Amino acid sequence: MNLLQKYILEYKKNLKKGRIIVISGPSGCGKTTICKELIKRNKNFVFSVSYTTRQKRKGEVNGRDYFFVSEQEFLKMIKQKKLVEWAKVYNNYYGTPKKPLLEAINSGKNILLDIDVQGGKNIKKFFPESILIFILPPSFTVLKQRIISRAKDKLEEIKIRLKNLEKEIKNSKYYDYFVINDNLEETVKNIELIILANKFNKNFLLKINKNKVFKH
Ligand code: ADP
Ligand code: 5GP
Repeated sequence: MNLLQKYILEYKKNLKKGRIIVISGPSGCGKTTICKELIKRNKNFVFSVSYTTRQKRKGEVNGRDYFFVSEQEFLKMIKQKKLVEWAKVYNNYYGTPKKPLLEAINSGKNILLDIDVQGGKNIKKFFPESILIFILPPSFTVLKQRIISRAKDKLEEIKIRLKNLEKEIKNSKYYDYFVINDNLEETVKNIELIILANKFNKNFLLKINKNKVFKH
């Protein structure tokens, strides 16, 4: 097979594969809202439901928002290598299950991961073709208003989350794109465009050049 044929073959294979899209950003910037909107509008988008040891919030549903498990169950999953990445965030464990993620991308679906910056960094290491998007609020004042208006967190928790802001932003240097979530409609449209453009990026060359790609 000559090089042109190889390029075309890998390009076509790449087009058929789903993408891993990591959405990170400070608490209250709108990650959950954005993911829900993207899924509502796009039939081939799915949400990666993480496992967590944190308490269920009012209105959250087990299996839809998170799988709520005990610390013992979570540690067992790490041992059994069932998580593709995990991290301790605000004193609770959070992790992305491996099986649904692989099933999604292999069946051509784009999978959205609402995870923190440590998780994003690990995903990029194992899946270089993943797209890392960092969401910023329009201002600090708006961010505070959004967290308070959501009215889901206790005051102590809000303080911890705001304290973590600097650290999250500093670690966002590994991210591919930054989007300010001011107008929701525009934010979602911009993210859809980023994902579309990424269908045509040079990642398919990774296979041809035999660069290290995570094997499963
Ligand atoms: P995160 O998942 O990042 O913690 P949420 O999606 O829960 O944030 O959003 C926090 C609050 O801000 C929610 O009440 C949500 O309705 C609101 N919100 C999200 N995006 C916007 C936006 N673009 N404009 C106004 N309010 C928004
Ligand atoms: P919350 O408790 O507000 O739902 O989430 C707290 C933080 O944990 C958010 O920054 C969220 O993106 C992150 N998070 C949720 N699930 C995962 C996960 O599976 N892995 C990692 N690394 N972070 C997660």
